Amino acid sequence: MTDETTTKRRALLRSVFDGLHALGKAAEADSDTRTSMQLMDVREVLKDAFEEDVSAQDCEGCGKTMLYGEKHHPTADDCDLCAECAPSWGCIKRQWDGGRKTDEDGGNKAEFMEAYAAHIAAGGSPDDKVLYEL
Ligand SMILES: [Zn+2]
Repeated sequence: MTDETTTKRRALLRSVFDGLHALGKAAEADSDTRTSMQLMDVREVLKDAFEEDVSAQDCEGCGKTMLYGEKHHPTADDCDLCAECAPSWGCIKRQWDGGRKTDEDGGNKAEFMEAYAAHIAAGGSPDDKVLYEL
């Protein structure tokens, strides 16, 4: 496959999972348990079929399926958040500053503050999400 084909297929796969996610949310809102369960099964089959492209973990925040190569935010307890659910640099800095986040949570305050300063120095905003490639 050419890079262009791969990119196109990944975008289509993204839209398939986004569509299933939206349909699942709609079924949930209508308390349509049967459809919700069926959609979960469909998603599992698709995740297996595209296991090379799809992360085994869904977003801890919204349940969205995430693809490798997409931006995500790993949490201290080994979960993943999608780009929309990821915290901002400013949010994490406030957690450190307020003592709500400590080195015991698996982070490192000095390292974070250094990375924060570098992010701001490079023209970044405290409102930018802290994201890494999955
Ligand atoms: Zn999410």
